[in-house]
Amino acid sequence: MEARDILCRALRTWGKEPQMMQVIEEMSELIKEILKNINRKKDNKAELIEETADVEIMLEQLKICYDIEAEVEKYKAAKVLKIEQRLNEWDKKAV
Ligand SMILES: [Mg+2]
Repeated sequence: MEARDILCRALRTWGKEPQMMQVIEEMSELIKEILKNINRKKDNKAELIEETADVEIMLEQLKICYDIEAEVEKYKAAKVLKIEQRLNEWDKKAV
């Protein structure tokens, strides 16, 4: 079974609302690990890896749930180009 099919199955089995609450829960766990790393200078790379993976898995389910996968990809591509433009402007100013 492909990863996407497994995530669709998770949504069908456990339902939209519980899975969307899980998105929030996983994001909060990642936030906590980032704060530990930055504020408390904690060596928590393993936890950052785990929580980043959890958030990515849940964001995949969010995109499937709202049927927004293609739109998000398009928006991301446009945003990355905007970031590149800003970086180019930044570099010009730095000279
Ligand atoms: Mg987690």
